[in-house]
Amino acid sequence: MPSSDNGDRPAAIALREHLAELADLGAVTALLGWDRETMMPERGAAPRGELTATLERLAHARAVDPVLGELIEAATVEAQGPGAEPDDAPIARIARRDRDRATRIPSELVVAIAHATAEALPAWTRAREESDFALFRPHLERQVELRREVAACFPEAAHPYDALLDAYEPGATTASLRDVFARLRAGLVPLVEAIGERPEPPPLAGPFAIDGQRALALEMARAMGFEDDAWRIDDAVHPFAQAVARTDVRVTARWDESDFSGIFAVLHEVGHGLYEAGIDPALDRTTLGTGVSFGVHESQSRTWENQVGRSLAFWEHWYPRARERFGRSLADVELGDFHRSINIVHPSLIRVEADEATYALHVILRFELEVALIEGTLAVADVPAAWNERMRDMLGIEVPDDRRGCLQDIHWSCGELGYFPTYALGNIIAGQLWAAARAQLPGLDAALAAGDCAPLRDWLRRNVHVHGRRLDPSELIERATGSALDPDPLLDYLREKYTALYDL
Ligand code: ZN
Repeated sequence: MPSSDNGDRPAAIALREHLAELADLGAVTALLGWDRETMMPERGAAPRGELTATLERLAHARAVDPVLGELIEAATVEAQGPGAEPDDAPIARIARRDRDRATRIPSELVVAIAHATAEALPAWTRAREESDFALFRPHLERQVELRREVAACFPEAAHPYDALLDAYEPGATTASLRDVFARLRAGLVPLVEAIGERPEPPPLAGPFAIDGQRALALEMARAMGFEDDAWRIDDAVHPFAQAVARTDVRVTARWDESDFSGIFAVLHEVGHGLYEAGIDPALDRTTLGTGVSFGVHESQSRTWENQVGRSLAFWEHWYPRARERFGRSLADVELGDFHRSINIVHPSLIRVEADEATYALHVILRFELEVALIEGTLAVADVPAAWNERMRDMLGIEVPDDRRGCLQDIHWSCGELGYFPTYALGNIIAGQLWAAARAQLPGLDAALAAGDCAPLRDWLRRNVHVHGRRLDPSELIERATGSALDPDPLLDYLREKYTALYDL
């Protein structure tokens, strides 16, 4: 029986208080980050850097505080006792894991990475502008060297890259990703080739007035679960979602008059926001009160953007509304043609513009290069050639310059090796969740076609959101879908969809 008398759980209570302050420091840092991208005047940048650095220093000091270590030990013992509450054990377990990671990486190394990033970012910006990899090369060499030092802090890892992956996707291993990505690649490459042999549908002609797009996207967001008194949408150069709290969710958008990419980006970011908003309130301000991994987070955004947002059922409800707003531009476009135009598959150079079928191939390429860089089997100098060779093999296209090749993403300049795989994991997990939701919700398509997103949102909330970090990613996927990480449901979904759309 859980006890209501806090006297039985002094360590659990003290641990929660310590973690609540850490969570608060994180939320303030997040709020400052949101403000920097949406509201801050340009000359606020330098003082903002100092504010953020101070907050991060305070948070780090609290994260490695020996008192926290003692509280975790005491709370772990206490959680086995008769007076414990069910969340006491997972809170102590995850707090221990976070603290272990924070204390294993020496602070000199953290500082060195921050300095290397500060120098690499402007160098990468210039290198990309001038399409000159040589300008970026020494900075990438430094970042790879520093990440190998991070990996060395976790000597028990079976592969040094595992230690980097773990920061974004707890429990994921290089060996398991190699296997899953090989299966995904083997399914995607022939599918993309088969689609390439079919005539390509015409793209939307536009223009679509931005005011109309904003209004339509907001209506969709509300149907998904955006609440006016708990959410905001603002413009930003790079769209993102940030929850300051469960009841304070910020999503951002970027608009393009020529297509609906801004609307799909809103569906994506609202999907992220719904995850944070749907976590069990009992986990507020604990170490469990956020998404469990980058991959699972991305599965939420991808489900709404792709499985829902690019489905015929969804647009059966929304297309008449789009036509009301963009009458002239859509007058001659029937629903079926519109649906084809938002599902065009066309191998291209830029990851963030890639379609649903080719996207993961861009990610697999980056994963392979990162693993080789960390293993030391690929020299940084050889990255452009290795990149271009894989683009040819996987997507059948020639890379004309490094600006549109290995210099296109910001991640490596920040030393973020291990992050990219989570994008493809998001697609894979979204495929599994979608298959499970469809099997369990026979009326799902009909609900979406009636503009009702609640059945899917509630299913995702029950099976994913509510848990926060209580369950590890592998356990969460297993419980929600009945199987381990598996690319087949995604491949089945894509084959079925494109067979119909492209008459394969
Ligand atoms: Zn995302």
